[in-house]
Amino acid sequence: MHALVFHGAGKPSWESHKKPVIDKPGDAIVRITTSTICGTDLHILKGDVPAVTDGRILGHEGVGIIEEVGPSVTNFHRGDRVLISCITSCGKCDRCRMQMYSHCRDGGWILGNLIDGTQADFVRIPHADNSLYPLPAGADEEDAVMLSDILPTGFECGVLNGCVKPGDTVAIVGVGPIGLAALMTAELYSPASIICVDLDDNRLTVAQQLGATHLVNSLDGKAVERVMELTGGEGVNVAIEAVGIPATFDICQGIIGAGGHIANIGVHGQPVVLHIQKLWDRNITLTTRLVDTAATPMLMKAVASGRLTPGTLVTHRFAMDKILEAYDTFGHAAQHNALKVVLKAEASRY
Ligand code: ZN
Ligand code: ZN
Repeated sequence: MHALVFHGAGKPSWESHKKPVIDKPGDAIVRITTSTICGTDLHILKGDVPAVTDGRILGHEGVGIIEEVGPSVTNFHRGDRVLISCITSCGKCDRCRMQMYSHCRDGGWILGNLIDGTQADFVRIPHADNSLYPLPAGADEEDAVMLSDILPTGFECGVLNGCVKPGDTVAIVGVGPIGLAALMTAELYSPASIICVDLDDNRLTVAQQLGATHLVNSLDGKAVERVMELTGGEGVNVAIEAVGIPATFDICQGIIGAGGHIANIGVHGQPVVLHIQKLWDRNITLTTRLVDTAATPMLMKAVASGRLTPGTLVTHRFAMDKILEAYDTFGHAAQHNALKVVLKAEASRY
């Protein structure tokens, strides 16, 4: 088979690779039909994730067909079409019993990180019974692949942790794919207004098409003032941080209203200053989370009913063997107006 293999910072390679085999009884081998690239993959390629070592196949999002299952797998059979969760979980340990699958004692975010991932013709999925989801007949693969990571991430880390309620004023700081996923799923709770903040006018326009009520371009460094104006000086009920840099975290601290929730989604690589001298008496809640994908079955139903159409975030499509071009497009997203870049296996190859 072929796979995208990491050979150190800045050195990805699409190359011939040994096909994965069943290693433990709970494993499944999945033939990938659709995959995609995550911002986290770009961090890995920059060398920001030292756990990822030379020779690792990248990717933690995908949809495919079961090729083979281990002897203890009971929920899936050869030929089933499945969604691969970015989080692998045993379903049995203490963390899994709390639905904190991201911290499973024998799983968590391991795909394309500690074990070989989904940007390949085939992938081995440990604990398949708990880590795969059956796709309903007729499910659109571009909608489905958004359920591997970005939709549950935006929803769980942003909307659920932010406790978005009907009538709330919500701000989403950063409207890349994750921020847009938070926007789509925040709307399930009928907030009164959703203010989207970003540096990129194209992304803000997409946010508006998806239901944002107010747009703030933060290029002039005055996002906090603008949001405070828009809220009559009150600040917002929920501030969702969807970038992962000090500047965007600071915006969230500057706009949060009394009793509000700051829900961090961004992957932070450096410290931030917590302005506790301003926040100590404001009754605010600050949350962090790695996506658990515990909400995936519920989100799948919302997609199946047409209530959520996350496939609208797909802007570019590539054949799997053109993945290096896909990385280039996704890595220069603003230049290409790119949101999600989808990779499709060529059926004719099998
Ligand atoms: Zn991801
Ligand atoms: Zn577990």
